[in-house]
Amino acid sequence: MISGGRHFLQIPGPTNVPDRVLSAIARPTIDHRGPEFATLGRDVLERVRHVFRTESPVIIYPSSGTGAWEAALVNTLSPGDRVLAFETGHFASLWREMAERLGLEVDIVPGDWRHGADPEQAAARLAADTGHTYKAVMVVHNETSTGVASRIPEIRAALDAAGHPALLLVDTISSLGSIDYRHAEWGVDVTVGGSQKGLMLPPGLGFNAVSEKALAAAERARLPRSYWDWKPILAANRNGFWPYTPATNLLYGLAEALTMLEEEGLSSVFARHARHGEATRRAVRGWGLEVLCADEREHSNSLTAVLLPDEHDADEVRRIILNRYDMSLGTGLGRLAGKVFRIGHLGHFNDLSLIGTLGGVEMGLSVAGVPIKRGGVDAAMEYLEASA
Ligand SMILES: *Cc1c(COP(=O)(O)O)cnc(C)c1O
Repeated sequence: MISGGRHFLQIPGPTNVPDRVLSAIARPTIDHRGPEFATLGRDVLERVRHVFRTESPVIIYPSSGTGAWEAALVNTLSPGDRVLAFETGHFASLWREMAERLGLEVDIVPGDWRHGADPEQAAARLAADTGHTYKAVMVVHNETSTGVASRIPEIRAALDAAGHPALLLVDTISSLGSIDYRHAEWGVDVTVGGSQKGLMLPPGLGFNAVSEKALAAAERARLPRSYWDWKPILAANRNGFWPYTPATNLLYGLAEALTMLEEEGLSSVFARHARHGEATRRAVRGWGLEVLCADEREHSNSLTAVLLPDEHDADEVRRIILNRYDMSLGTGLGRLAGKVFRIGHLGHFNDLSLIGTLGGVEMGLSVAGVPIKRGGVDAAMEYLEASA
């Protein structure tokens, strides 16, 4: 194994945690029912809303993102409810399977894993549902298995055009804090988030940003829920507390990560990610390889999935890069296993971390015998120089 220097954790989450956040997390744990905690709780609950771009409450769970998915469903829906979902990739499929296990009836718009949720298909399905049998529309904003970002405002517009009252539930686990997202302006009812991607934290926090309409739906929803129930959490949150033991040290980290995002400014954070996304795509094309995302409007700025020629195994390339250059890249998930690898370029990341990442990829592809043109890294550097 390689020793010396730092490991490059370039999977699309968990992402590299800044030293400032690590130091914050290392502080002593405090009494989660004491006055010092209430100050911390109120502070993070207040400030986290800005990352979602909402003034409505955000619920924070000690959970992975998957827990926050479940919370979004069980708080708003009832057994047998119909929901509309889109087959954008692996994460959308997992969320759909969860919905089915919970007793929901999921109607799926099929997809080829290279495009986002199709607003035209959404419009057609919603317009056809004149009886308003769909109770919710579920969309993954940034499909982390494919590097495709769905156009949420156009899905919202499809709901509005049909005059359809279904709730809009959006997974932003790998876009929050890295790709422009607006919970309130886009009329989203529940936004699902997680800590370990754009928010630069370790895994362990799940988020639900909830609209007034979602809170009203929760009063009627009959899916069984206990731990995930918003109501007791919101009641305790009013005083800065939780009904159970929260992840105190991760909340220290969240406070620091929020400060870092505030210092840089969200629009600068998004611009930085857009620049690194574009530089990465130029590198991939410079190597003569294909970006998986097939629609120019839908490129993810937090990760890039790179398609390899048929006879080459993407996991072998990843193995070589890990062993030789001490860098982790994302594996191909589900039906993309072995066909793609994924470069994470989100979170705590700058121009030189990107060039180091792309340098490792270019060398690894060459060592693995994948027929590439040299010059991918050069193309990325030229773009970064010109767009500073
Ligand atoms: C990572 C991710 C998840 C799963 O989150 P966990 O924290 O692993 O439970 C769900 N959806 C998307 C889009 C993701 O990127």
